[in-house]
Amino acid sequence: MKAIFKKEILNDPESENSTYTNFTLKRNTEFCCEKFKVFCKKFTVWSYERGKFAIVDQITYEGQSIQPIDFCPFCGEKIDYEDENKPSKSIKKKK
Ligand SMILES: [Zn+2]
Repeated sequence: MKAIFKKEILNDPESENSTYTNFTLKRNTEFCCEKFKVFCKKFTVWSYERGKFAIVDQITYEGQSIQPIDFCPFCGEKIDYEDENKPSKSIKKKK
């Protein structure tokens, strides 16, 4: 499946001269399977800081550690992350 996101650089409301990057998943994303789609509706799986889907890996005393995923946890299909402003055609893929 293809996960197309929008990358935005926003001003940090807490400190004046700094910015942070926010990744928003496009709403028209077509999921590889129904299970993953339902899963994403139930839980917040998208990581706005990383621009990837991420699942909770471990729950520790300090909080949760999340693991970015490149493959669907249900059907195993590869997830291609793509910036809507930079189609991946120009990126050389390593095999
Ligand atoms: Zn899937």
